[in-house]
Amino acid sequence: MTWIDPGGSLQVRAEALLDATAGASRGEVKRLGRWLDEAGDEALRAALIELGCARGVEIPEEARSWPGKRLLRLCRGQEAPARERRNPIRRDEGFTCDHCSAEVPPHGRTARDHCPFCLRSLHVDEVPGDRAARCGGVLDPVALEMRGDRPIILYRCRRCGAERVNQALLDGLEPDRWEQLSALSGKGPS
Ligand SMILES: [Zn+2]
Ligand SMILES: [Zn+2]
Repeated sequence: MTWIDPGGSLQVRAEALLDATAGASRGEVKRLGRWLDEAGDEALRAALIELGCARGVEIPEEARSWPGKRLLRLCRGQEAPARERRNPIRRDEGFTCDHCSAEVPPHGRTARDHCPFCLRSLHVDEVPGDRAARCGGVLDPVALEMRGDRPIILYRCRRCGAERVNQALLDGLEPDRWEQLSALSGKGPS
């Protein structure tokens, strides 16, 4: 991807730059940021910030002096650099359950995100698989719900109260225990 400054009004240039950033890979954003650092002026930065704000992004005052790469990321609404670095691919891994201490094997077909024996999970994701949540609390199952033909376990975090959902796993190595699921199914979301 080659970035060509379309010229014209600041608003047009800022919009084109943000649009180019929106679909760009990390490497491309880096290049666009470098361009902004080298060729972009104060007024273009101000226009970017204004545009980001208009699109609903919260932008701190000091962002004016940030490196172009960081400014562009923020303005397109994806600053959180920690999250961007993390690999949002769900991995199927075994683990030791924090609640019941069972040794849980990988599932085999899909990512194992809860204990099949007690159904507990951990509050480690903001979006599935990203491992971006700092909480780390135990997620207690509170209800079972059908979404289409898929049974979904509703969770509440013991530590922070956040609510999450995981799909119940009825197949694979060590499927979710039927007694645990059926004990939940009468409860409904509370
Ligand atoms: Zn467990
Ligand atoms: Zn939590």
